Amino acid sequence: VLPWGATEAHNYHLPYGTDTIETEHIAASAGARAWDAGARVAVLPAIPFGVQTGQLDVPFCVNLNPTTQAAVLGDIVRALAPHGVRKVVVLNGHGGNDFRWMIRELQPHVTPFLCTMNWYNAVRAADFFDEPGDHAGALETSVMLHVAPALVRPLAEAGPGHAKRFRVAALRDGTAWAQRAWTRVTDDTGVGNPAAATAARGAAFCDAVVRAVATFLIELAASDPDDLYA
Ligand SMILES: [Zn+2]
Repeated sequence: VLPWGATEAHNYHLPYGTDTIETEHIAASAGARAWDAGARVAVLPAIPFGVQTGQLDVPFCVNLNPTTQAAVLGDIVRALAPHGVRKVVVLNGHGGNDFRWMIRELQPHVTPFLCTMNWYNAVRAADFFDEPGDHAGALETSVMLHVAPALVRPLAEAGPGHAKRFRVAALRDGTAWAQRAWTRVTDDTGVGNPAAATAARGAAFCDAVVRAVATFLIELAASDPDDLYA
C-alpha cells in the first residue's frame, strides 16, 4: 500500500501536511487490521507531495506535476516488482492527485497488479457530517482532531471556509470539469466550514473508513490477479 498525500495550505487551523498525515494514518490502521485478519499487507511510507497546479500562488504549497508523480510511481513499482510484490494499491488522500491515467499507462509495462482508492470516498461522508466540506472543512478537521490533535490550531483561528462556485452551470454541477484557481475560490484556502468539527466525529468517520479500506485490502490480498473476473 502506497499512501500518497500533499503539502498544501488547509485554512488557518490545519497543518500543510494534513493530507499526508491523514492518509498515512488510515493506510497504517487499515493495513494493521488487514494483517490481523491474515492478509499479508505492507504499508510504505507516504509520499508527501501532490499536484498543486491550481495553488501555485499559495505560499509554500509544493507541487509535483502529474507526469512527475507518474515517474515516481513507476520507479516505486519497478523497485518492488522483483521482490514478490504482486499487487500495489495507491491510497490517495488529495483531490488534486489522479492516479487512474498513470495506472492505465504503467500497467502494461509492469508485473504487479495496480489499483488506486481515494480513502475520502470509501464511505458516505453525508452519514457522518451535515456539511463535510471539500478541503479543511468539518470532515477533514474532525479527522485531524482525531488523528493529530496537537497539530490543530484552535477553531477560533480558522476562517469560515467560504468558497465561490463556478458561474458556468455545467462546471458548477459537475457535468463538466475544470481545475479550480484556488485563491479565486476561497480567501482562507478552506472550502467548507470547520466549525462543526469534533474529535468524536473524526473517530467515527475514520473508523468507518479504516474498516472499508481494510475490507478491500483483505479481499484483494486473497484474490488471484490472473483471475479477477467472474
Ligand atoms: Zn486535505
